[in-house]
This record gives sequence, C-alpha cells and structure tokens, in this order.
Amino acid sequence: MSPQPRPSVLKIAPYVPGRASAGHAGKEHKLSSNENPLGPSPAARDAFIAAASALERYPDGGAAALREAIAKTYGLNAANIVCGNGSDEILGLIANAYLSPGDEAVFTQHAFLMYRIATLAAGGTPVVVDETDLAADVDKILDAVTPRTKLVFLANPNNPTGSYTSATEVRRLRDALPEGVLLVIDAAYAEYVRKNDYEAGIELAATRQDTIMTRTFSKIHGLAALRIGWAYASTEIIDTLHRVRGPFNVNAAAIAAGVAAIGDRAHVERAIAHNDRWLPELTTRIEAIGFRVPPSVGNFVLIDFASVDGADAAAADAFLGARGIILRRVAGYGLPQMLRMTIGDDEANEATIAALQAYRESLSAS
Ligand SMILES: *Cc1c(COP(=O)(O)O)cnc(C)c1O
Repeated sequence: MSPQPRPSVLKIAPYVPGRASAGHAGKEHKLSSNENPLGPSPAARDAFIAAASALERYPDGGAAALREAIAKTYGLNAANIVCGNGSDEILGLIANAYLSPGDEAVFTQHAFLMYRIATLAAGGTPVVVDETDLAADVDKILDAVTPRTKLVFLANPNNPTGSYTSATEVRRLRDALPEGVLLVIDAAYAEYVRKNDYEAGIELAATRQDTIMTRTFSKIHGLAALRIGWAYASTEIIDTLHRVRGPFNVNAAAIAAGVAAIGDRAHVERAIAHNDRWLPELTTRIEAIGFRVPPSVGNFVLIDFASVDGADAAAADAFLGARGIILRRVAGYGLPQMLRMTIGDDEANEATIAALQAYRESLSAS
C-alpha cells in the first residue's frame, strides 16, 4: 500500500494552465494566461542576463533589494513585505500557516482556482459562496462565515470574471468579518483598474492586523516566467509567512529582474495604455459580432457563447485554435459556455476579432 497524503490533498484537481499551443502550423497567438503582450521591460531582461554571471551564489534569502524597490514604488515599509515564488506561492504559505484541519476558507463561486488548491493542500475546508452577476457579493460571503472560518480569499479584480469589488464594499466586508479571520486581498491585476471606487488594499493591509494584500510581477510587469509575487501586511503576519517560506524562495535572477522592472515606470505606463486602448475596443467589437462580454477591469475579457443561438464555447475554442488563436477554456471555473481572452498585441486582437466573426458566420451558414 502506498503512503497516504492528508485526505484533503486527494480532493485537489491539479491546476490546468492555459494552453501554450493549439498545434496550429502557422503563427499562433497565445491569449490564454493573461500574459503581457508587450513583454517585460528591456531593463528587466538585461538584469536577468547579468544575473547569469553569479549563478553559483545563493540569492539573498530576504530579497531585500526587491522589497526595497517595491516599498519605494508604493510608499510602503519594506519590513512589511514578503516576496514569493509567484503570488501563488504566497497564497499557499498563507493557507499553510493559518489553516488547521477543519478550518474553513471562504471564497466565491468563480474565484481564482488557487484558493481551493491552497486550502485543500493545507488540510482546510473550502467554502464556496455564490456570486451576483459574476461578482463577489459581500453579504453572501458574510453569510458563509462560521466559527471555523480562518481565511477569506477575495480576488480583486477577479480572474476569470474581470469583475471587481469597490473599496467601500471591501471595507464593509473587512469591518463585518471577525478580527480573527484573515482577509486575503489578491490584487494581481490592480495596475490595470481604471475605476475611482477601486483600491488595491494597501491601506487596509497597512492599518489592520487581519488583512493581507498579494501582488504579482507576472501580469503588468510581464515576468510570469520568473515567478515573482509579494504581499503586504502587519508585522505579525509577515513574520508568520517568513517562518513557513523556503529560505531562498525567490531566485537571484527574479530579484534582479524584478528590481529593474518596477523601476521602469515608462514601461508600466505603456502596458497600462495598451490595455486602456484595447479593453473597451475589444468589448465593443466582440459585442458587435453578437457575443456578450461581461464588464472587465483586467487585461482580459470573457466571451459568452451562450448569448448566441447555436454557439458553443468548446466548438468556438476548436474553431479559433484551428486558426492559431489560443483562448482559455473556463469550464473549470464553472463557466462552461465562456472563453477568456487575454488582451494581446494589435495583431493578435485583430486576428481574434476576425476569427470570432468567422465563427459567428459559420453558425448562420449551417
Ligand atoms: C495570475 C494571477 C495571480 C498571479 O500568480 P503568480 O503566481 O504571481 O504568477 C494571482 N492571482 C490571480 C487572481 C491571478 O489571475
């Protein structure tokens, strides 16, 4: 008989990343993982290459240079930052440190899949609450809180829905949650949001003992390959996470490239401007073809195939894949009739619009 892991581990469905290829012979456009179509800052690429000259040396285990650079950018205290091998790692550290068997972690119906995985891996119990119009509903979250609740995960904005929770609503949630419940605000797409009533969670994390904000270099900084995430919280919470993290969890190339990336504000502004141009344009043009696009504030949109007679997300995915366009199926997120499209470069976006138009025409023809 094989050694047996914790029972909850066997309930984990392994994370399925967005496809890297559709097996199409011609040019492919990968719009399946919310990667940055502009790539990273050239300065980050140079720093990564320079890091190759000292690969025999352990990295700085505390990633001090990276924490300082983040702190300077956002006006934070570097001592209240912890870095991770992607924010995915930090979500796992939080679950490991705060959940004991039987403890509950609350998150919403279409929330980022890592919350479920991190909770089960730590031996906790996932509690999934319904959303309202593809968005987190604070009252429904509060209704799900029990004496066993230790964590509430809130993706703000959420992936894959693209919806966000207003600053007022996040504060209402925080104020109504018991202080012993750690609120995890995952703000992976914060830089893209253009809404006056949005905040990433810095202030709550700075002023409360029971709230942590996580961020990533994988999206706006275009460094997904290097796996860099960070979190900001009270001294006690950060101290706890330092205890459970690997001693060298962020590698030297990641630290060097991260420092360079966050220092290149012009590149960040270019990435935001590209998104600002394409998010409304894609939404309008895909809706003009006939497919509903729920409002998104991120660097991606959902396309609702149930909104057109005869359309089907799996069939559309195959149709687009045959034309080299790789979107993300989100059936695993409880959205079987939708596909998620990352905002790509101009060519990829135009190709996707044309292919969606052709798919729509193929339906009327049959
Ligand atoms: C992409 C994403 C992350 C970032 O993950 P990394 O591990 O930092 O690459 C975190 N949360 C959400 C909701 C995401 O979509």
